[in-house]
Amino acid sequence: MKIKKIYSPNFEKKKRSYKLIKFLIIHYTGMQSERESLIRLCSSNSKVSSHFLINQSGKAYRLVEDNQIAWHAGKSHWGKYKNLNQNSIGIELVNKGHKFGYTNFKRQQLYSLIKICKNLIRKYKIKKQNILAHSDIAPLRKMDPGEKFPWKELAHKKIGIWHSCNTKILKKFRKIRIYSKFKLEFINHLKKIGYFFDNKKKANFVKIVKAFQRHYRKELINGIIDKECLIIAKNISKKI
Ligand SMILES: [Zn+2]
Repeated sequence: MKIKKIYSPNFEKKKRSYKLIKFLIIHYTGMQSERESLIRLCSSNSKVSSHFLINQSGKAYRLVEDNQIAWHAGKSHWGKYKNLNQNSIGIELVNKGHKFGYTNFKRQQLYSLIKICKNLIRKYKIKKQNILAHSDIAPLRKMDPGEKFPWKELAHKKIGIWHSCNTKILKKFRKIRIYSKFKLEFINHLKKIGYFFDNKKKANFVKIVKAFQRHYRKELINGIIDKECLIIAKNISKKI
């Protein structure tokens, strides 16, 4: 696959060992155009970058080399990992995002993403459960790549994990309320999966539940734990 090199100046001066690469983080650009995104990711004023950018026709750009730490994740947590830039590769997908007109990811764009991911998984032995959304590792600040990102389809190609519940049965449990003791169980499942709970602030809690829903239950993103969410969380946490 041909990948065009347009280097960004935004990365840590000190190179990293390839052994540190353990995560793939998927983003959307959330800007009006591809051109604007490319300019921002490559301008030294912006202080942001990623290793790859993939446009809607599937054209891929290399912005930062894998042994350099790009600035894509920001303040983030996953399991015992903190500030995931040093341990991850960031992949940006061109999409206007929730602010400017969120659209479906294009077939060609996903095709290129799959190719790049497969290559990185093989090269750095990335675990399935370490292929994540920006919103998973920074749920209080981020929504990308959002609920239109096809996690289920990618999981079928061994990129990321997905639950093994029957979707027709699952749907029956949507909006079904659960007792508060099960809320604690849900949180424990999410913690096992990797989500980070820093304090008991209700607003933060709702955002973490929404991040989980954006990834695993995109049909209803309301920040409320229902029985369907609980069943999915239990199923996923068993796979970790
Ligand atoms: Zn992002």
